[in-house]
Amino acid sequence: MNEKRGLLIGRMQPLHKGHISVIKETLKEVDELIIGVGSADQSHTNSNPFTSGERVMMLTKALREYNIDPSKYYIIPLEDVSCNALWVAHVKMLTPPFCKVYSGNSLVKQLFRENNMEVVQPPLFNRREYSGTEIRKRMLNNEDWESLVPSSVAEVIKEIKGQERLINLNIKEVSEM
Ligand code: NAD
Repeated sequence: MNEKRGLLIGRMQPLHKGHISVIKETLKEVDELIIGVGSADQSHTNSNPFTSGERVMMLTKALREYNIDPSKYYIIPLEDVSCNALWVAHVKMLTPPFCKVYSGNSLVKQLFRENNMEVVQPPLFNRREYSGTEIRKRMLNNEDWESLVPSSVAEVIKEIKGQERLINLNIKEVSEM
């Protein structure tokens, strides 16, 4: 079973339709998928506005919205560690055993390859728009971001007042100007 269990790690700030596509495609190749919520210790910053718990809620609701069988995946928050060379061991300690890693992130790919793990780079779907950076930028500019995320994720972001949080984080204090 270990041979057919894969790992996909993402910050998911926020979870978008590109993440959903890669999860659906990867589940065609593996029996079970571990979805690691990266930088779980980070929140309330411009590039990491959402907490790990909020991102787990986004994932849980969106995978339900897309009718993805809950017996096929594990959602595991993963805190960052200051030492990159120790990160793979840290991830392995916190997750079920897996044999393949799916990632488009250069550092993630490098660290797992140095630990003799098989790494697959999944294709990107509409990366120009399905990107956390693009979605956060649109939230700040009051442009359409909702069409880029599952509707359940848009509901979570509204429930937690996520757009207001991002805008408030970007308001410059008089002393900073
Ligand atoms: P991300 O949410 O940007 O992307 C996650 C994955 O989703 C990508 O690898 C890519 O395969 C896929 N993806 C994204 N957009 C897509 C699209 N449009 N279409 C298809 N697939 C798409 O997250 P990330 O930045 O790759 O997350 C890596 C995590 O690993 C971070 O949290 C980082 O901090 C963590 N990390 C930590 C350490 C450490 O603690 N020392 C070291 C390395 C990595």
